[in-house]
Amino acid sequence: MLKSLFITLLLGSLSLAYGFEDKPASSVDDGQAKDAALGKSLSEQVDKEYKASKNTEYQERVSRIGAEIAKIANESTVNILWGSKKACKFNYTFKVLVGDDVNAFSLPGGYIYVFEGLINHAESDDELAGVIAHEVSHAAFRHLATLEKEKSKIDAVTIPMILIAIISGGSTAGGLIELGQLVGVATGSGWSQKAEEAADYGGFQYMLKSKYNPTGMVTFMERLAFEERMSPKIDWGIYRTHPPTRERANELVQRMNTAGIAIKRSTVTTLFKTQIKPTPEGNFDAWFGGRKLYTFSGEDAQSRAEKAAARIDSFMDSLPELFDIRSLQDGTIIGHGTVLWQVTSSDAQATKDTLANATTNAVLSLKRSLYNLTYRVWDF
Ligand SMILES: [Zn+2]
Repeated sequence: MLKSLFITLLLGSLSLAYGFEDKPASSVDDGQAKDAALGKSLSEQVDKEYKASKNTEYQERVSRIGAEIAKIANESTVNILWGSKKACKFNYTFKVLVGDDVNAFSLPGGYIYVFEGLINHAESDDELAGVIAHEVSHAAFRHLATLEKEKSKIDAVTIPMILIAIISGGSTAGGLIELGQLVGVATGSGWSQKAEEAADYGGFQYMLKSKYNPTGMVTFMERLAFEERMSPKIDWGIYRTHPPTRERANELVQRMNTAGIAIKRSTVTTLFKTQIKPTPEGNFDAWFGGRKLYTFSGEDAQSRAEKAAARIDSFMDSLPELFDIRSLQDGTIIGHGTVLWQVTSSDAQATKDTLANATTNAVLSLKRSLYNLTYRVWDF
């Protein structure tokens, strides 16, 4: 119930600030001042409605990355697919909110909010920076004001719904069904989709100018698309305002290709980076994609495992085919013509296998990991 009240309040302020019947701001400076004032009053309501996270590490991390992206947004010119003609400059603030939603939202004037759940979901600063850059773009391109400006083209009932969608970020906090329905209508209207595309492209351009790897945007979106595909009934907040996740992931992949940047998933994720973990038996297990890939054993197990990990990563990053994996009789595991690692007799002993069996199992295991990777990143 508290949530419905909150939305009413927001809409009230919006009508007040933008003046739905008035013409939109005529210049960038006008818009900047209006957005800053509106954002300030909205953020005061958000601060009352949501709990600020007590996790100082999260808050520091978001503030640090946010400040870097905000500086770039304020100092550079980017192509804007949808929104104001010129990006606005704002005094950005970044706050972490309590909540498991994999979600973030931005208010006009550069007030950016990130839920703890999203930070838990991000596997690197690059992924987190990608989300922040997306939200910064919404603010910089004045998407809320643009929606208001475009409102004459859509019916009077739809516009408040879209505004709710943008502001609330489709938050599931409180489990408000009516909010879900409204947001569903809004996202179906196509308006929020344009805003999302523009924010993705804006965010991508900011990422290119930053020290962060834009691959983080790709992998984060891929993971959301995969989870959406696996459990479409789960009410993830971010999906409602960010509906065509798969298309957005593909779009980002294309932008990476156009920019000539190789997509190396292992550099921005933990899921698709080979992890080496010591075992109680003194062995070293290699994990990939959340599954155990191989056990290295013997004197030099650790250094062999680490060398293998680097090779497996660059092999997997190239998204090879299953038939690119093969082995030699002496236990050499080959990926796309490169030696990935050598199955030794101590490795085989650790799993109580013959060398031949251990080699066969290693190939199968690597193929399974590769299949798992491609299943997650490709649209079947
Ligand atoms: Zn968005």
